[in-house]
Amino acid sequence: MNDLTPLGGGCRTAPVLKQRGQREVFCGLTGIIWLHRKMQDAFFLVVGSRTCAHLLQSAAGVMIFAEPRFGTAILEEQDLAGMKDAHTELDREVARLLARRPDIRQLFLVGSCPSEVIKIDLARAAERLTQIHAPHVRVLNYSGSGIETTFTEGEDACLASMVPVLKDTTARELLLVGALPDVVEDQMLALLGAIGIDNIRLLPARRIDDTTAVGPNTVFALTQPFLGETHAALMRRGARHIAAPFPFGEDGTTRWLQAIATEFGVSAEVFAAATDAPRDRARRAIAQASEHLAGKSVFFFPDSQLEIPLARFLTRECGMTAIEVGSPYIHDTLHGPDLDLLAAGPQISEGQDVDLQLDRARAARPDLTICGLGLANPLEAEGLTTKWAIELVFTPVHFYEQAGDLAGLFSRPMRRKSLLRLEAA
Ligand code: SF4
Repeated sequence: MNDLTPLGGGCRTAPVLKQRGQREVFCGLTGIIWLHRKMQDAFFLVVGSRTCAHLLQSAAGVMIFAEPRFGTAILEEQDLAGMKDAHTELDREVARLLARRPDIRQLFLVGSCPSEVIKIDLARAAERLTQIHAPHVRVLNYSGSGIETTFTEGEDACLASMVPVLKDTTARELLLVGALPDVVEDQMLALLGAIGIDNIRLLPARRIDDTTAVGPNTVFALTQPFLGETHAALMRRGARHIAAPFPFGEDGTTRWLQAIATEFGVSAEVFAAATDAPRDRARRAIAQASEHLAGKSVFFFPDSQLEIPLARFLTRECGMTAIEVGSPYIHDTLHGPDLDLLAAGPQISEGQDVDLQLDRARAARPDLTICGLGLANPLEAEGLTTKWAIELVFTPVHFYEQAGDLAGLFSRPMRRKSLLRLEAA
């Protein structure tokens, strides 16, 4: 690990530019795309409009399932006008779905803008439907609406909805929180197993039968930086958070593992024996992949809440300079350890007034701009090099084995741009 405090101090106490205005971010329904793959016995039923159904279909892209684990109960004009009882319709839809799909063990009713506008009480619907379909199916609800949530907040809302129904335990257990691709999750469990920690529970678990529980002796670590509500819900159940930088890159992964190792009293020798080789591999992979990044500047528009840990990774491990690091929300408890490591200098901003932020990006002319799909094309047309923020959420990027790929995600557009310049010359 490098020194904890960067030269000139970190960014935890830096002034934060807070702006509220028009924003360019997906709504929380997007999280269903990765959550339905993770939770193999769950179904996500969006109570929404045709727009919501289209968003899900296009976000799901080319993934075609014979029996997908998400769908939309479309609110028609009559529902919206209050001419039909939406609850009766919903009960009928759910009964039809569960009769056809006995593999479903957890059903999430996901609220949307239309269901919120006409005030369908999905919490009441979830309670009623649980009574009807228990014990085989557990029904929960959360909101993925664009009024209440941005992009990754959908996962946060989903996991937070599960916390109150987790079983009680007094066991001293480590709970790891955040949806990761299975292969990455397996790598994480292997690393923790190698330092002697194997009494581990996961949220979300792959199946409801997995016995995830929580109580006063639970300690938990987050694998994703956008889980503020879930963090609060776990604290309410008496669990304790292990604060750490997020496991992106060699340094971030080592610090995340070290925080857990310290909590469980793992010796320095055991820690080094388990991590030295993968750290070395990660360092070499990053050095190779970040050839086009060193000495370049980066500007983050707020999108997924991954911005602060990724800025820490790019500046400390890939030699970049951050001009602005925008995040939809900044939670000191979650993002503080990464802010401590981010050298003073960049503008830290929370929220968005997109036109003002575009002006700042145009004035700064960064070498690389990380932004949403809607902003990338216009900025490319103006000669800026961009990276779609959404790819960082859909691609496996955590822990040592993915550290080189993570640097590669940022260097690819830079390399492409320099090749295009060469061809044009
Ligand atoms: Fe659009 Fe709202 Fe539906 Fe999201 S929830 S797709 S923002 S209507």
